[in-house]
Amino acid sequence: MLSPGSTIGILGGGQLGRMLGLAAAQLGYKVHVYAPEAESVAAEVTAHHTQAAWDDEPRLAGFAATCDVVTYEFENVPVDTVRFLSGHVAVRPGVAGLKIAQDRLEEKTFVAGLGGRPAPFAAVPDRAALDAALAAIGTPAILKTVRMGYDGKGQARIMTPADADAAWDGIDRHVAVLEGFVTFAHEFSVILVRGIDGEIRFWDSPVNVHKDGILATSSLPPPQIVANQQAEARELMARIAAELDYVGVLTGEFFATEGGPVFNEMAPRVHNSGHWTIEGAVTSQFENHVRAVAGLPLGSTACGPLPVTMRNLIGADIAEIPALLADENCHVHHYSKTEVREGRKLGHATWVGASPV
Ligand code: AMP
Repeated sequence: MLSPGSTIGILGGGQLGRMLGLAAAQLGYKVHVYAPEAESVAAEVTAHHTQAAWDDEPRLAGFAATCDVVTYEFENVPVDTVRFLSGHVAVRPGVAGLKIAQDRLEEKTFVAGLGGRPAPFAAVPDRAALDAALAAIGTPAILKTVRMGYDGKGQARIMTPADADAAWDGIDRHVAVLEGFVTFAHEFSVILVRGIDGEIRFWDSPVNVHKDGILATSSLPPPQIVANQQAEARELMARIAAELDYVGVLTGEFFATEGGPVFNEMAPRVHNSGHWTIEGAVTSQFENHVRAVAGLPLGSTACGPLPVTMRNLIGADIAEIPALLADENCHVHHYSKTEVREGRKLGHATWVGASPV
């Protein structure tokens, strides 16, 4: 159990690190952020900051020497960085989940091996393999790069086989996976936290609405079909967490279909669809992640008053903040990013016990 005053290292300097840093401060910990970018909205609220490359071993060793435990808020931290740090300091969650989540093909294979049901998929290492994959899976389908995809980036829809060339060019001819298009009623996520002793707790699953591949809203209570499929999806996520000997918050994204929950992807970290837990649950995902990696007892994941809605403030939406501040039921979060860009997550707003106006 880390004593107050200890230092938690966070790899990655974005808004997830910022909210983790605030939760760590509440529990009496100091945070040291390590990130390659000059602008770090996490470092703005934390005690220490190292700006250095992921492969800068002397700087990584120096960082590790200041930390009592290290975690990450960004799932594309190179696995070699985490392996190197693990030789110097405890890293929670470890390398196993990170490695799997970075590779869509490995992830789907792993999850299918544990009894999960991903969409039908086929490896597309090159252009010729795309034709074979289309013949096997059919259309419509989605071509996704195996690595570095997030918020709908690195994806191309294929409505007919004639779209294959454009899709292959559209993902810059990277190694990919072809997925059958899933007809779903809703999307939802399972957010769990697993403690050092293996205890698992779940927050209630929100229903998630995406626009242009980016999360727009997460809301509770979810529609009945999601509520009905939550137990099966939770069982899968618990098996995944146990198999990885995972410590911290782990998120799984699912499609609620007529045939049951279809696994889409997982994130080995706190997740955008769990931001509502800051005001909407007894213990937030950020606090429970800190508790888990610090070896503290986990906090209650019970919900407060319903309904709950979290809406992302993306790009120009950030101009709505004055109006949102005037809404007595709205909790406003501004990430303090300087550059307003289309598609960039700049803040979020949460309504607890009330609907957005
Ligand atoms: P991803 O980056 O894989 O989470 O994809 C972003 C969004 O695209 C998802 O949240 C879905 O809305 C949509 N999507 C991804 N894969 C599929 C699929 N196989 N079938 C239907 N919609 C999908």
